[in-house]
Amino acid sequence: MERFLYNSNKGEYTLLMAYPAVEEFALASLGYLWLYKIADMTEGINAVRCSTDNIDKFKRPQAAAFSMSFDFDFMGVFEILEKLGIPFYAKDRDDDQPLIFAGGPVITTNPRPYEAFFDFMMIGDGEESFKKVLDILKNNCKKDAITLLADVEGIYIPNMPVKKSTVLLDEVIYTPILSDNSYFKDTFIIEVSRGCMNRCAFCTASYINLPFRSYSYEKIIEAIELGLKYTNKIALLGAQISAHPRFGDIMKYLNDKMENGIDIELGISSLRTDSVTPQMVQTLVKGGQKHSTIAIEAASEKLRKFINKNLKEEQILNAVKTARENGLKGLKIYSMIGIPDETQEDIDEFLRLGKLLKDENKGFNIEFSFSTFVPKPHTPFQWALREDTKSLEKKQKYLEKELAKLGIASKFSSAKWDYWQSVLSRGGVELAPLLTEVYKNGGKIGAYKSAVKSLSLSIKESFEMNEALPWDIIEFEPRKELLKNEYKRLCIKKTSL
Ligand code: SF4
Repeated sequence: MERFLYNSNKGEYTLLMAYPAVEEFALASLGYLWLYKIADMTEGINAVRCSTDNIDKFKRPQAAAFSMSFDFDFMGVFEILEKLGIPFYAKDRDDDQPLIFAGGPVITTNPRPYEAFFDFMMIGDGEESFKKVLDILKNNCKKDAITLLADVEGIYIPNMPVKKSTVLLDEVIYTPILSDNSYFKDTFIIEVSRGCMNRCAFCTASYINLPFRSYSYEKIIEAIELGLKYTNKIALLGAQISAHPRFGDIMKYLNDKMENGIDIELGISSLRTDSVTPQMVQTLVKGGQKHSTIAIEAASEKLRKFINKNLKEEQILNAVKTARENGLKGLKIYSMIGIPDETQEDIDEFLRLGKLLKDENKGFNIEFSFSTFVPKPHTPFQWALREDTKSLEKKQKYLEKELAKLGIASKFSSAKWDYWQSVLSRGGVELAPLLTEVYKNGGKIGAYKSAVKSLSLSIKESFEMNEALPWDIIEFEPRKELLKNEYKRLCIKKTSL
């Protein structure tokens, strides 16, 4: 069952809001649902939701908008276009064909590998630019619309320079459609803040969302009250929610409500390791949370300093102790391997830290979850070389075995898939035929290898500081010069550690 928390409008112009994965995930994607709500409330627009598992029942629209959150979402984009009988390449679609566009974190980070497939793309915050897009679409033919869209901030027409759109946060974004089919069943998610001020040198969640912004306390409380009219499941979202200037007050508000007998199931995305407080943990536990996560990225303090994660070991120990003493049953610790110039000593630091945490927190469930370093555009590490996949897999096996000996469970991302993620992240227009080839051949790892071979593509593994980068066409703050200075500063800092 779906419950709409707003009133729809109807219209003549059919816009398909396409999510390139199954509906369960579409209904859990806050950004996608919020833009759908904007379209659905716009007079003159007939907004229609679709996902890969229900596309068969939809007819060809006048336009289709895709939300891309993950690097491999292009597979779902092609699947939907194919089922609608729409050619993949924009150049193969004449003026009678639907207008196809996209937005989302993948597009904001680097639209270049995908630009051959879309008529335009939305870069940065979408809530304001999308309203302008809708206004232009419903009042103009495809050709005129593209001309007019070129003047809208944040709209990227392939190969034309564009400035990322950044909005002031005002109207709080929350789940506008509650559904028991959602991955987060009937959960009212509230965006508390956007971005993160910590600027870890690899982190797109921070760099593509600068400056860090948060909603006012009063508006967040209003949103919580709205959500509680429909459901008891409330989740707070943001890359760094505890950096909200009044986060303690928000938690206290929720805590007081629960103490007064209001049933709230509370979820927050992750705890900020350097500011886990007893009150915060007690509120989460009262709200039914048993486990939570912290991110430390590296066990070696030297590496943490290098990546700009200025977290002291004492703060990690304190976070775990506070979580245990205040009622959580366990913590998942997010970490990363393959940080540039990582040594065996740095890897062994995970074992030392794991043992220390285990010894100090008997009976408390500690699990490490490792990803591998993926260099991303618009971060100081965009120039960094990614470690060889085999070498990363060797480190993964070593850690899994040695942590198991200490009684610590560990999970690992696939180093092979992370490699292709890094290729797509830092790719340019030359990747378009690779993407279609991979799709045609089923999208497994083998399809990537054979596509590279059959197309005789040479994959760019590293970038020089003074060379032009595919994504330079996007005007971002901080600018490339500042990222260069930051990268150099971190490298100098590392040699002096
Ligand atoms: S603290 Fe987390 S969200 Fe913030 S910059 Fe670092 S990795 Fe990114």
